[in-house]
Amino acid sequence: METTLKTDITVKDICEGFVYNELEGKGLFGLSGKLTIQPEYQRNYIYASDNGKKEMAVIESILKEYPIGLIYFNKVSESNLEVLDGQQRITSLGRFITDKFAIKDENGMEQYFSGMAEDKQNRILNTTLLIYECEGKESEIKEWFKTINIAGVPLNNQELLNAVYSGPFVTLGKEEFSNSQNANIQKWSAYIKGSANRQEFLERALDWVSKGNIGDYMSRHRSDKNITELKTYFNSVIDWVSSVFNDVESEMRGLEWGRLYEEYHKKAYNPAKVSAELRKLYADPYVKNRKGIFEYILGGSVDTKLLEVRVFDEATKKAVYKTQTAKAEKKGKSNCSHCAMGHNANKNKIWSFGEMDADHVTAWSKGGATDIKNCEMLCKTHNRAKGNR
Ligand SMILES: [Zn+2]
Repeated sequence: METTLKTDITVKDICEGFVYNELEGKGLFGLSGKLTIQPEYQRNYIYASDNGKKEMAVIESILKEYPIGLIYFNKVSESNLEVLDGQQRITSLGRFITDKFAIKDENGMEQYFSGMAEDKQNRILNTTLLIYECEGKESEIKEWFKTINIAGVPLNNQELLNAVYSGPFVTLGKEEFSNSQNANIQKWSAYIKGSANRQEFLERALDWVSKGNIGDYMSRHRSDKNITELKTYFNSVIDWVSSVFNDVESEMRGLEWGRLYEEYHKKAYNPAKVSAELRKLYADPYVKNRKGIFEYILGGSVDTKLLEVRVFDEATKKAVYKTQTAKAEKKGKSNCSHCAMGHNANKNKIWSFGEMDADHVTAWSKGGATDIKNCEMLCKTHNRAKGNR
């Protein structure tokens, strides 16, 4: 790979013919059409988020004559350059010069480019940038792009994978899953965490269809001209979840729906019953882990470990231990009721507090509360033998 350092390109040159696509949230072209600002493998523009703090910082740096860092172009041909790194900064410059956002002046007043004093405008336009033009094989450049990661916000995993496996498949995938204008995003966000812009919906869709082998799946489908399988599988999962659970709870966001679909979608559920069960568990103060409720119900309401049912606190355990032990000593029997019923040497053994565990007399799953009246101390062996309830 060959690189040439350019020091004479100005902000004005870069922003000549700047086009910003509002719908896709992308800066498209610059350098009088010669520069492609957002090639396929680049992520969407994110400097405008967080109230535009990042894009304003770019302009303020230029005004104070601070460097804004190295920019890398990929020389595709004599008449065509692509931005490898610096897309966010260039888009900030272009958006500012075309009055897409304002900065705050010394007095905290909003200031658009067109309203600035001419000398200030010229200071921005005549600023030269440090640009490396790179020439090389696509694979070299992509490999290198994967390792540089210079920009302010590091690329996340999916953004890197999109860069590495760029092609028609990724383009179609992004059209469907990374487009914040897609009306389905709202529905999907009930079950999936993250933002379309940062590729987190695409990542989830790929994760589900590939059973966790995203990179492998992307590499196999890289040249595909359709995303039918990806879309169909994703929609099957979403349709399944929303038909089993009529309720939408915030704890549903980010659950492993792909795995749960694989495990449970062949079982039949009655949505009305599911909903009643869900409401009951949501109202139960002893259920600590509400995220576990969904898999608990899917699995037939058996595995209470998923719910992390509240355990007895130390004070309760100590109080119960004290009364239980005092009674046992009077009778000359073991302070573990199960040991006391036995016939071996433990039948009159007094266990220490540390040798015992608290147990629900009536199991939580049968309506037993986690309070002192339903607490019994058992020796560790007998407690374990009573099993997980
Ligand atoms: Zn015992």
